[in-house]
Amino acid sequence: MNYDIVLGLETHVELSTKTKIFCGCTTAFKGEANTHCCPICIGLPGTMPRLNKEVLHYAIMAGLALNCKIAKYSKMDRKNYVYPDLPKAYQISQHDKPLCYDGHVTLSNGRTIGIERIHIEEDAGKLIHEGGATYVDYNRGGVPLIEIVTKPDFRDVEEAVEYLELIQLTMRYIGVSDCKMQEGSLRCDVNVSVKPSSQEELGTRTEIKNMNSFNNIRKAVNFETNRQIDVLSSGGKVIQETMRFDVENKETSPMRGKEDAQDYRYFKEPDLVRIHIEEDEVLKIKESLPELYGEKLKRYVEEFKLPVADAKLLVEYRKVAEFFEESTKNVKEIESYKNCSNLILSMIFAKFETETEKEEFKILVSAEEMEKLLNLIETKKIRNNMAKKTLDEMLLTGKKVFDIISEDDLKGLTDEELEKICSAAVEQNEKAVKDYMSGKVKAIKSLVGFVMKETKGRADANLAEEILVKILQQKG
Ligand code: ADP
Ligand code: MG
Ligand code: ZN
Repeated sequence: MNYDIVLGLETHVELSTKTKIFCGCTTAFKGEANTHCCPICIGLPGTMPRLNKEVLHYAIMAGLALNCKIAKYSKMDRKNYVYPDLPKAYQISQHDKPLCYDGHVTLSNGRTIGIERIHIEEDAGKLIHEGGATYVDYNRGGVPLIEIVTKPDFRDVEEAVEYLELIQLTMRYIGVSDCKMQEGSLRCDVNVSVKPSSQEELGTRTEIKNMNSFNNIRKAVNFETNRQIDVLSSGGKVIQETMRFDVENKETSPMRGKEDAQDYRYFKEPDLVRIHIEEDEVLKIKESLPELYGEKLKRYVEEFKLPVADAKLLVEYRKVAEFFEESTKNVKEIESYKNCSNLILSMIFAKFETETEKEEFKILVSAEEMEKLLNLIETKKIRNNMAKKTLDEMLLTGKKVFDIISEDDLKGLTDEELEKICSAAVEQNEKAVKDYMSGKVKAIKSLVGFVMKETKGRADANLAEEILVKILQQKG
């Protein structure tokens, strides 16, 4: 029998507001344990939460970027459960009136994934297991989160991974989160079910908690779908439960029975007032959103005629894209976009080792100087290899284009000058000439190289080759 896979994702994104959701403590990552805390975020009795307005702003930005509607009225609820990382024994979250609802994103295969809701809530602290003891660090307690819940619309794990990458890039673009999986600012629960292909109704799902890398998601979903198919094919029933993924053994195992909403005894948070968002507030936020990742990518391919793979690399990091657009805003030839892209991807990216460096994009070259360089290429005053050499020096020293390229360099070569240098090339490179004469046609390249070097890249390589061949033919 054939089985279909069905996945739905619940993604937690930590918002990068300066302060926590209900108090003034910092949200900074790291820091000595229990130093980013106050009576409110460690839940001392008698303290009162106050909702950080910036959290609403960020969450609405996220909602709009994912095509959600924004609720005019929403509210905070208490989700009650007991766990050492949650000192109040309840989490302030949103239950039946989320801030954003009814959104969607489109994947590269054209399929649309529905976003059921996005709600705001507080993060819990962190348990640290060390030398047989368990410690708790409340620094993370009260850091604002949004939870993005999709419809069960994914048909395979690669769709889910692409969706997560899209979420990551979109959130970074609009600046509401750095979405670093390894630091836990992007975490994901994956709901998995399978059903016979002939059946309409969805199968019973299990939920794999707290996945923290794309590869683990792939492994976990593979293991879990195979397990469920085995259960069904041998006549059994999948039990709805919460699972954990064991990275060592690469398998999923039950963590606890699936809790229902009623297990959490949700009720309205009595210490906070209802949230009211005016429509023009939403409109204002909508207008302030930068161009989104997906839109930008499309524009780079359609307008600038860049190959998709190159465009993706440029667009992935917002600052890179800004530099690219600044540098090319006055170019006249479509080729110049490609030239600029090539220079960034080959010369500038070569200077970076980590993702963070690409993200920060700290370089000694301004977009203004890059524009000058592109203009010299466009007007054929310099050639690509000279541009590369110049850019390299600019990146190393911070010098300006015209500190490096002199008037002399920009003067074109006359035919006589070029012929003279070609003759010199033939005289001074006995070996290459001999090789060429004995039939190694490729040896001409080293002669052309000599000419390019002598002329600091000013020569037209094709013309130089023509002249060289002519001289050699006369010789032979
Ligand atoms: P809960 O709050 O109990 O986790 P939800 O109804 O909010 O339940 O659903 C949680 C997630 O489970 C959603 O992302 C949804 O898309 C997904 N989901 C629901 N039914 C299925 C199913 N049959 N197979 C896979 N995923 C599912
Ligand atoms: Mg859930
Ligand atoms: Zn606090």
